[in-house]
Amino acid sequence: MDRLHLYDLAMTLSIDLTNGTARRAPAPRSATAEKSPLIGLTRAELAEALVAAGVVSERQAKMRAQQLWHWLYVRGVSDFSEMFNISKDLRLELDRHFSIARPEVVEEQISADGTRKWLFRFPPRGAGRPVEIETVYIPEEGRGTLCISSQVGCTLTCSFCHTGTQKLVRNLTAEEILSQLMTARDRLGDFPDRDTPAGAIVPSEGRKISNIVMMGMGEPLYNFEAVKKALLIASDGDGLSLSKRRITLSTSGVVPEIVRTGEEIGVMLAISLHATNDDLRDLLVPINKKFPLKELIAACRAYPGLSNAKRITFEYVMLKDVNDSLEDAKALVKLLKGVPAKINLIPFNPWPGTNYQCSDWETIEKFADYINNAGYASPIRTPRGRDILAACGQLKSESERLKKTERLALEAMMIAGHGE
Ligand code: SAH
Ligand code: SF4
Repeated sequence: MDRLHLYDLAMTLSIDLTNGTARRAPAPRSATAEKSPLIGLTRAELAEALVAAGVVSERQAKMRAQQLWHWLYVRGVSDFSEMFNISKDLRLELDRHFSIARPEVVEEQISADGTRKWLFRFPPRGAGRPVEIETVYIPEEGRGTLCISSQVGCTLTCSFCHTGTQKLVRNLTAEEILSQLMTARDRLGDFPDRDTPAGAIVPSEGRKISNIVMMGMGEPLYNFEAVKKALLIASDGDGLSLSKRRITLSTSGVVPEIVRTGEEIGVMLAISLHATNDDLRDLLVPINKKFPLKELIAACRAYPGLSNAKRITFEYVMLKDVNDSLEDAKALVKLLKGVPAKINLIPFNPWPGTNYQCSDWETIEKFADYINNAGYASPIRTPRGRDILAACGQLKSESERLKKTERLALEAMMIAGHGE
């Protein structure tokens, strides 16, 4: 039995199992829109907010901000009442003015392969409506990766991406970006100094979230300031403490923000390349019309801190008869010459209504072999959580959920195999 057959078998199993594990999680106390959020503020902003609300004196502000920072990001509490070294009066005052509550967990789905997908609902901002977004957790040998969304929908319209068919509703705030990480940690029992919240389903082994990828819904570099704030807090050594080496930001190619990303955030960079010439990339990743390949590659070369130990990941979705020939592989190697690069081949994940198909497995392997022989590490990204539509490019939130008939059609499409 070759890999495809095995994979298809796994699919069948996972669909059966998942029907039983999709669950509505018990709703935690949800964040209230009227109180101002403390999550997502820098330490200085936190101190300022406390003083401005008249909750603490200027003299005490820095110390209190530090104390709160520890409770929020090391201990992971989501209620002021849990902060036992702060007086009851002050906790009540804090609670009157500020919110540290998690978003509502509308749905938690667990795939047969351990991948999880959450649907989170955030309260309205100003006159807006509540928004829902998806976050995905992918457990792997020795690590766990959280795939975080940066926007509700996306303004860009990459032709192979499901998220791209959903219009942009709005940017997420720094609080909402961080809340995805913090709520996922709650649900996985991944705040070691805190009791596991009621209802959390804790995986049996391993440290849970060791890596973050900004590869969920949206284009992170079109929401630069909020993404920057959130990632700087996620990587703060006195808080959530994720190493910047373990945070990857993926962009479709917003050239003017690329070097800034390295300078101001300092995380690892991934580029959604997908094509090696402008004509094809204009069709697949339309932002290419604004920032063509030449400019994109030049920005990559200028990415601060690049070296063989710190390479850019180039993502390349494998689309049958579109970009998967050996000629394409050769052009790819030529295009990236001299750039410290890893190439990540992503088997196309289908969604209802798409005209694309995933390349045959044999074609993908030939493509990968060529690239490997040219000296590039080129792992093929194993599709994870396809049974719960959690794989790359399959995310789309509640406002445009699949109808049951669409879901069944999609499952049939995936079980039928990939062009064998
Ligand atoms: N907007 C950012 C980050 C989110 S997309 C970006 O485009 O980089 C994360 C990755 O999934 C991107 O490389 C994207 O091109 C890829 N992707 C999108 N739709 C896909 C699909 N249907 N199958 C496989 N990969 C897909
Ligand atoms: Fe947006 Fe990225 Fe999807 Fe393109 S691939 S539509 S940039 S989310």
